[in-house]
Amino acid sequence: MVYTDYLQRVLFEDVDARCVVVRLQDVIEEVNKRCADTPAVAQRLLSEALLLSALMSSGLKFSGRISLQIRADSGPLRMLVADCTDQGGLRGTVSVDSAERLPEQTSDLIGELSGNAVLTLTLDPSEGGQRWQGIVPFEGRCLADAVAGYFERSEQLPTVFRLATDGKVAAAIMLQRMPGDDSDSDGWNHLEHLLATVEDGELLDLPAETLLRRLFHAERRRLFPARELCFYCPCSRERVENMLLSLGPDELASMADEPEPVEVRCQFCNQSYRFEPSELAALYPDEAVQGPPTLH
Ligand SMILES: [Zn+2]
Repeated sequence: MVYTDYLQRVLFEDVDARCVVVRLQDVIEEVNKRCADTPAVAQRLLSEALLLSALMSSGLKFSGRISLQIRADSGPLRMLVADCTDQGGLRGTVSVDSAERLPEQTSDLIGELSGNAVLTLTLDPSEGGQRWQGIVPFEGRCLADAVAGYFERSEQLPTVFRLATDGKVAAAIMLQRMPGDDSDSDGWNHLEHLLATVEDGELLDLPAETLLRRLFHAERRRLFPARELCFYCPCSRERVENMLLSLGPDELASMADEPEPVEVRCQFCNQSYRFEPSELAALYPDEAVQGPPTLH
C-alpha cells in the first residue's frame, strides 16, 4: 500500500536506537486550508510541529494522543498546537496576535519565541489513565532543537531530528537512542553521522524505505510496515456541550438570556456548533436557568 501521508519505523539490531520517518502531504493541505488567513511563516512552523508530534506519537505506549504546544505571553505568535493520536490522526492550529508584526523568516520567528515562550508536551490517554505534561522554556535555533533539547534534558534520550518542508509536502526523520543503554557510543555516533548526511530533497522526494536503505545500508536493521497518517479532529457536539457546562450555571444562564444563538467554532477544524437559547437553558435542566421570556 502506498500512502501520501505515513510514518515508518526502523530498529537497529546492533545499536539500541530507532529511527522514524514521517511524510505529510494531505494533512498539510487540510491544516493550511483551515488556517488560510495565517501568514506562511506561521504555517511553516505549524507544519514542523505536526511533523514532530507525528514522530513522537510513534513512541506512545497507550491509546491517546501526544500534543505539542508553544505558548507566548507576548509577541505576534501567541499559541501553536499540534497533536497526533496513537492511530495517526493529526490536527493543528496556530493563533497569531498581529500578522503584520510576524517576521517572514522562520529563524526570526524562532528568535522572537526563544526566551519568551514555553514549550509543552502533553501525553493524554483516551481511556482514563494519568495525563502527563512536561513544560520547558522554548530554547533553540529551531523548533526541532527545542524538542530535542527537551528529550536530552528531561528524558535523557539523545534525539536528532531533520525536518524539511516546501509548503506542500513536509517530511522528517528522527533518530533516537533507546532508554537505559549508553554503552555503545561509537555505534550511536556512527548513526548520528549517517543521519547528518540526509538532504532536504531526499527527505521530501524519496519513499521512506528507499531513504532508510540509502542512509543505513550497511547497518543491520528491522523495518516495520508504514502506517498511514491522516487529518483527524475528535471534536463533537457532546464535547462542546461539556465545555459549555464547565462555564457554570450563571454564565450559561446569561448566554441563554441573549436572543441570539451561540456559535462555537472548533479552532482546529473550523466545524461550527450552534446552540439556540432554549438548548443552552436545557443543558442545566435542574438549575433555574431560563431562556428569554416568551409572550405565549
Ligand atoms: Zn474540530
